[in-house]
This record gives sequence, structure tokens and C-alpha cells, in this order.
Amino acid sequence: MNITASKLYKKISKYDTVVSQETIQKAYLLSKKAHTNQYRSSGEEYFTHPLAVADYLAEMKLDSSTIITALLHDVVEDTEITIQNISDQFGNEISRLVDGVTKLSKLDLKFGFAQAENFRKLLLASSDDIRVLLVKLADRLHNIRTIDGIISNEKRTKICFETLEIFAPLAERLGINAIQRELEDRCFAVLKPETRESILKRLKLIYSKDELNIPFITKEIEELLKKNNINSKVTGRVKSSYSIWKKMQYKNLSMDQLSDIMAFRVNVDDVNSCYKALGILHQEYTAIMGRFKDYISAPKRNGYQSLHSSLIGPKKTKIEVQIRTYIMDQFALNGVAAHWIYKEGKKWSEGVKYKWVRELIQILEESNEPEEFLENTKLEMYNDQIFCFTPKGNLIILPKGANAVDFSYAVHSEVGNAAVGVKINNKNRLITTEIKNGDQVEILTSKNGFPDPQWIQSCITGRAKSAIRRFIRNREIKEFLHLGTALLQKEYRQQKKRMHEKSLIKVINQFELSNVEELLIEIGKGNINSREVLNFLYPNKDKLQKTLPSLKKTIPKESMKIKGVVSGMAIHYAHCCHPLPGERIVGIVTTGKGITVHALDCFALEKFNDMPEIWLEISWDREGQSFHKGSLVAILANEPGSLADVTKIISLNEGNISNIQVVSRDLDYYKFNIDLEVKNITHLNQIIAAMRLSQFVESVERGKD
Ligand code: MN
Repeated sequence: MNITASKLYKKISKYDTVVSQETIQKAYLLSKKAHTNQYRSSGEEYFTHPLAVADYLAEMKLDSSTIITALLHDVVEDTEITIQNISDQFGNEISRLVDGVTKLSKLDLKFGFAQAENFRKLLLASSDDIRVLLVKLADRLHNIRTIDGIISNEKRTKICFETLEIFAPLAERLGINAIQRELEDRCFAVLKPETRESILKRLKLIYSKDELNIPFITKEIEELLKKNNINSKVTGRVKSSYSIWKKMQYKNLSMDQLSDIMAFRVNVDDVNSCYKALGILHQEYTAIMGRFKDYISAPKRNGYQSLHSSLIGPKKTKIEVQIRTYIMDQFALNGVAAHWIYKEGKKWSEGVKYKWVRELIQILEESNEPEEFLENTKLEMYNDQIFCFTPKGNLIILPKGANAVDFSYAVHSEVGNAAVGVKINNKNRLITTEIKNGDQVEILTSKNGFPDPQWIQSCITGRAKSAIRRFIRNREIKEFLHLGTALLQKEYRQQKKRMHEKSLIKVINQFELSNVEELLIEIGKGNINSREVLNFLYPNKDKLQKTLPSLKKTIPKESMKIKGVVSGMAIHYAHCCHPLPGERIVGIVTTGKGITVHALDCFALEKFNDMPEIWLEISWDREGQSFHKGSLVAILANEPGSLADVTKIISLNEGNISNIQVVSRDLDYYKFNIDLEVKNITHLNQIIAAMRLSQFVESVERGKD
């Protein structure tokens, strides 16, 4: 390849009168210098690549900013040059474009082709300027043109697959047929060389027969139109092997069953002649029903215009014809790029640019061609995700509905724990603001920041929820530790003793604890009475208070199995109080029934007050992770969506509903009994707290019947 800066300039200046030779020269030299000593897989100098991309875009007659961007498109990604350098030397517009392409290239690395549709949406979400996409497509085209330089077969396959999944359809939707077709054919040749070969061979065989000869039909159509005073240029082509293969798969047909393998393009001078030519062709040949389409009066969303028809053509051959003006033809080949050349003149105007982007996003989102059916069903699988960026341009993927709290914890739990605010797209927002596709999110942190427990209700990722809970739990433990220490010190003072940590070690064993800190925490939580501790340490002293019931000594522990039960005894959980792990419990031995576990504060225990012999000292064991039944009584507003809201809250808080029952209802309220499975008492309390925040919930209490 032998493109110089001045050749490139000459090419651009033919259609772009405002191009600056100096700037082209500057970009050329900067890129060349920056890529010095870098080589492509083929061994060629790296600079040949951006240069080829720039040259291709100049062929497409794109504005000089696009060409300069092409020259610089890999500079930030691969060399020492920064976006700031580019901004300093070339101004805002170019640096923004280069930044856009760089961002897209970074995304490349993170995605497999499994997320093709998503990726395409992401490309759009992250390119606020169509020229970024055009550079990206040209970049990909050149990489595919030179794919033989890549030695690893696996890598070649991956690149081609990705290209067919992502970039060819993107080119198609942008209306750039030339790029689409070339990408498809080249990738097809790499991925399925034999299939492609056999299709080509077969086509050759079919069209070697005289009557199906493309030059013959071309000439016949041209002469027919000429007889009717229409100047035309007819070109015939066999459809691309890849599109034939796709159709064979999609429609499950054999090649012989494919009728429209041959297509003819009829170019005429003006719109009037398009319709005239169509009339003549329909008079001369039989039109196939249902195949006529008028994209001139109703252009495709991407702006494509043409008349389409299928005919029983010369020699009774089925052919497809596309009739359009030369300008429409340019558009069909170059899509949006041509749009720029013909419709907008040579100045890239802001208003037009943004309108295009909007339209393009619509095109991509609303396209419902039958061929895209599969693609769109695939999309369904992924449309529950959103893509957003850190200020440095790193991609963060979140589930749909996630807010800035989720984002902050997705970055790092330390960021989340210190978050005090957020800037979304450089604007201050509430930290609970939902994140949208393509948002740039900057979390503001402070040394003194800490997560608000209320965030648990508004964020949706497990990562954020559990990190917040962990933070709160740790903070609570610290508070209990302080409180326990204070309580114990007070008790020592009252007993006129001095507190010695050493002597406390003796107490630890008594309460089945592993260290003094745990003891202090338990005192802080109120599970151990500080007086008990001193009574134990100084047993000979006059007891200031009667020993507390021995039950108080048992320490409730997180989790499920029950300690202190003779193995083999049946255990039931009392229906009156539905005791939960974390709660203090007692076992009541019932003859022939085993042990019934009650919450220590259950009113039903009153009737056993006189039978101390059936009371069994038990506690929750640390081990195990099962679910337990909890029960709620909730009064909800009698409004549409209220029950749905409540069940959503419960499931967001990881509770499983096992039964819901309407107890009573009136005009304004429903009363429900809700049975649910929870891990422990804290879990149930969390759910209750979350429900109380709902606008639909009038009241909610723990059910005790
Ligand atoms: Mn590149």
C-alpha cells in the first residue's frame, strides 16, 4: 500500500472543500510516529492499518474529521498518546470521536459473541456520533481483509464469528451494503470454506447454461427499456454465497428450491423513470404475486429507497429486479455515509447529526424484518441488563432496574460503603436513582460516609444488599461491644470490684463462648446479664439478686439445628409462635409427641409454668442453613398492585412465600395471613421492616395465633 498524507488529502479535497491539508498531515505524522515499532500479526508495520481505514473512509467520501479519527483510532488504545493530547492538538470534535472509537475497542475485549445483540445495542448506547460507528466498521473491514495475517486458527474463527454476529448486521442496519456484503463473504470463506466453495460451484453450474446467462438477460432488459425511451444501466449479479446459505438455513430449503438467486439492478436517472421502467417490465414479463415492494414512496427505516419486484423474466427464468435512481443506489451501497454526501452537503451540522443518532437507535430497536426474528428472540434473553460506565470508561454491567447504589458496590464494596452521592452524566442525582443504558456514573465518596439501611430496599443486586447488611451487622456488633463493656463496668463499680480481663476468661467457658469480646457482645445484646457474670466470679459474696432462671444463660445462636436435645427425640415448632433461629427458645416435652419448640416470650408457655420438669433448655445450633416457617399478619390497601408489591418486597428480601390467605376484607383494606420461609428472626424482621416501607402496607406484624 502506498498512501501518503498528500494523496489522502487530495482524495478528501475532491468532495470536502473545508478539509485542511495541514491537519491531515499532522494526524498522519502523529499516528505514524506513535505506532513506530508496532507491527501487525502479519508482520506489516502497524501504521498501515489506520492508514487503510482512513483511505477506505475517504473512498466513502466521509468528512475530514472522520478521516482524521480513522488515522488516530488506535493511538490512545495502543500508544502513550492520551485523549488530552489529541484534544490539545486537534480540538474537541476529533478527541470526542477518537475517545468514542477507543471506548468501543475496549468493549471488544470484554464480550463474547454470545451477547451479540446486546453488544450491538451497547455500541449504539456508547456512540453518540454515527461517525464513531463508521470508523469502527471500516476498522473491522480492514481487519477482516487482512485476516490471513493472523496465524491462530482459533483466533481467526472467533473474529469472523463475532463479525458475522455483530458488525455485518450493524452495517446492514446502517444501510451500508458494501461493507455488510464484504464482511459476510470474507468471514464465510474463513468459517465455512467448503460450504462456500460448493455453493459457488453449484451457482457456476446453474448459470453456465445459456438461457440463464446474466449478460444475456442484462442486455435484454436494457434494450427493452431503451425501446421505450428510458436510459438505464442494468447490472446482474448472483446473490452472495453467504446470503444463499443463510436463506437455505432459514427457510430450510435446498439450493434448487431457492428461486431468487439472480438479481438485477436497474439504475435510471430519476424517480419518474423508476415507475415507468417498472410498468414496462411488468407488461413484458409476468410479475410474481406478493413480491412487489415500493420502498420509494415508503423508504425503509434506514433510508433505503428502491422498487423491488420478482418476475418470470427472459427465457422463463425467475429473477429479482431492483429499480432505483443512481443516487438511491449510492445510498444503498454506502448507507448513512451517502446520506451525508447527498443530503446534508459538506458541512456536518449538529442538529442533523443528533437527529440521525436518534433515528438510528430507532432503526436498531424497531427493525422487524423476518430475518431478524431469531436475532430478536435472542435479544429477549439479554434485555434484562444495562450497560454503564465509570468515569474512566470502564464498563459495568448491571441488571435492569439497578440504581447507583448497585453501581457503587459493583465497582467495589469500599466504594459503596463510603458513597455519599452520585453524578450521572455529570449531573448530581440521588444515590437511589436508577441507572440507564449508556450512563456515565461517578460515585462521590467520603471518609465519613456509610450505607443507609434503607438502601437495601431500593438496590436490587445481591452484592449490594449483602454488603450493606454486612456493614450494618459489623456496626451493630461494635455497638453491642461498647454497650456490653459499659454494662459490665457499671456492674463492677456497683459491686465495688475492679474489672480484670483475665478473670473474665473463666466466665467464657461457663457460657460456651470463645473469647471475652464475644462475652461483652452477648452482654450488650442482653443475652447475658452482667450480674450473672459477677455472681459466677464471686460465688461466696452475698447474692444481690436471686440467680436468674438458668434459661437466660442459653445463648441464641444464628442458624438452625437445635442444641441440647437428646438425639432421637422428635422436634416440632410451635404453631402459636413460629420460633425462628436467633430467637431465644425453650423446649416443652410433651409425652408421646416429643419436644415442641416455643419462643421464650410465647404466651402459650404460661400454662406450663407449674411444670418445670417438662421445660428443656435448648438453643439454636450454629451449624446448618435451612429455612424456617415464619408467619405474618398484614393489612394491605385494597388497591390494584398492592399484593404484587408486597410479594415482590418479600422475594427481593429473599423470603419464600409458602402460603397466603385472605382473612378479611372491606372496601379499603385486606387482611392477609402470610406464611413464609425465612432464615432466622433477623431475616423476618428485615422483611417486616421492608414491607412497612411500602405505600400499600397499612400494618404488618408477626403472626402469633
Ligand atoms: Mn484498529
